[in-house]
Amino acid sequence: MKRYRLLLLAAAAVAACAPLPTAEQARPAAPRFSAAYLDTSVSPRADFARYAFGAWQKANPIPADKARWGAFGELDQFNQLALKGILEAASAGSAEPGSGERKVGDFFKSAMDTAAIDAAGVKPIEPGLARIAAIASTEDLARALARLHDSGVGGMFSIAVDADEKKSEVNALYAYQGGMSLPSRGHYFDAQFEKIRAAFVEHVAKMLALAGDTPEAAAAGAKTVFEVEKSLAAGAKTPVELRDSLANYNKMPTAELEAKLPMFKPYLAGRGVGPAEVIVGQPKFFESLQAQLAARPLADWKVYLRYRLLRAAAPYLASPFEAESFRFYATVMRGTPAMEPRWQRASRTIDGAMGEALGKLYVERYYPPEAEARMDEMIRNITAVMRDRLRNVDWMAEATRKKALAKFDRFTAKIGHPAKWRDYSSVAIRPDAYFADVRAAGEFEVKRRLAKLGKPVDKAEWRMSPPTVNAYFDPTQNDINFPAGILQPPFFDYSLDDAVNYGAIGAVIGHEITHGFDDQGRHYDADGNLADWWTAEDAARFEARAKKLVEQFGGYEALPGLKVNGELTLGENIADLGGVSIAFEALERSLAGKERKTIDGFTPEQRFFLSFAQVWRTNIRDDALRQQLAVDPHSPGQFRAFGALVNLQPFYDAFGIREGDPMWRKPGDRAKIW
Ligand SMILES: [Zn+2]
Repeated sequence: MKRYRLLLLAAAAVAACAPLPTAEQARPAAPRFSAAYLDTSVSPRADFARYAFGAWQKANPIPADKARWGAFGELDQFNQLALKGILEAASAGSAEPGSGERKVGDFFKSAMDTAAIDAAGVKPIEPGLARIAAIASTEDLARALARLHDSGVGGMFSIAVDADEKKSEVNALYAYQGGMSLPSRGHYFDAQFEKIRAAFVEHVAKMLALAGDTPEAAAAGAKTVFEVEKSLAAGAKTPVELRDSLANYNKMPTAELEAKLPMFKPYLAGRGVGPAEVIVGQPKFFESLQAQLAARPLADWKVYLRYRLLRAAAPYLASPFEAESFRFYATVMRGTPAMEPRWQRASRTIDGAMGEALGKLYVERYYPPEAEARMDEMIRNITAVMRDRLRNVDWMAEATRKKALAKFDRFTAKIGHPAKWRDYSSVAIRPDAYFADVRAAGEFEVKRRLAKLGKPVDKAEWRMSPPTVNAYFDPTQNDINFPAGILQPPFFDYSLDDAVNYGAIGAVIGHEITHGFDDQGRHYDADGNLADWWTAEDAARFEARAKKLVEQFGGYEALPGLKVNGELTLGENIADLGGVSIAFEALERSLAGKERKTIDGFTPEQRFFLSFAQVWRTNIRDDALRQQLAVDPHSPGQFRAFGALVNLQPFYDAFGIREGDPMWRKPGDRAKIW
């Protein structure tokens, strides 16, 4: 599966449950850049992050229903309140039956009907639990797993249809490691997660008991589930190992994978697909899975799948299931004390399930038509700088430079929302059956994706819904994508000066562009195919430069005794550095010949860097931070706010940073790639 380069990793999609919908909240103003966020008691030369947003941090403790809070969270909440209005109107109105508006309105109605959801108890998944209980052979297991995967329940491994990374115009089948409930391999083995493991076993026991197991059976079952998952984790790669695109691309005849894992054959038959070849992400994982299948009794896999079904369904079931799921995945794992209000859990579910139906209504109401033209202009200015950098960078051989420019000339941007909206007319949504609605939308999506196997890649398709506050680079399509949800303050703000905009959305654009040339993206050629098109000397020079960032970020202590993983975060740190550096030059070009105004007492250059830092303003719970450090390829916001900047001379010039200042880095230690 392709690794999409995001701007940040969204919080795990753990839906939450809350007592009752809160009173109508007025939609606040969009969060803007503000000089009032500065903590001027701190010198920018000593601690630029605190200087840029220390006052904001003090005035904005993390809301009880969030794991972290910052510019992204504020804008997300702003968008959520817009969705709330849309969903309430859609559920109260009388849109035409079968229309997208009617479907999301009915979906919202069913999601808000907690009396019906609670009354149904575990019933919605009883047929699924019964199918698992009836498994009597490995072949049954394979078919039951296929059925679970068809309905969006994960387990044992995962398959996906996506652009073939070495033949990017056609969709291929990928088989990947998977089936673990905890977020990384390290969660099953590292000492720092011992408490999480104990809490996980306790949580699984509670879920099994809620589904009707006796306390003894539930306790024993929970231990088995953990042992099964731990054995999967033992054969799995770490997040750092998964970053190596070439090592995680192993195309083989399907028969070869079936020889490693015989259950794959009946499994694929159950899924209704039979490609001649499959791209195996981690062949050793599948060998290790087979060894486990041979060693463990069928009963172990049955209780494991029982939990996996409960886990996937819990957020949409009666409140005891939802509450237990929240307690473990949000409170224990991320430190979040309270659930978001019911309407918000509903809104997130519908956005995830039918994002383009809800997103279409959002775009009609909230996406200003001028945004696209303004983004186009900004992207043009920033790509012009990047093109010049590629032309002039002194460490690339001419042959490689030529190929890099050819790749750069082919890249495209998608802005706002899909040109053509997804057709959900075949998805049956009822106003009184929440779980069935979630299932229907989920099955539609799984089927839609599987049906792409062997077909040409649809380059117009989006991987994020329009209200999403994020952006991404797609390596096989060689395109950058900016959903409508992020094209607002504080990222994009018509009411403020260019400096603030270049420091925010400009750096975001630059970030996504440079992903095409980060430690992963550089392996894809002009056609979006994974290939080694660099000379060995160029690769060595690139890696020597990147190593400075590995060392820099690897030196940041995020929690006592726990440092940022410089290798895991390398691609994002390269993108942050390249992005802010080219956005800065684009700003300077746009200011050439114009009157340079000081605003709030700051020069354009100072406002650029302050705006960049404020995008990363963050308060985060320790547990959420611990999880982020283990799995997230993005450095924590507190380091993103200045980590790229301390490599840039213009930043030193703007704030008078000198040798001896805490923000100062020796010129020889500063990284410069693009
Ligand atoms: Zn990124």
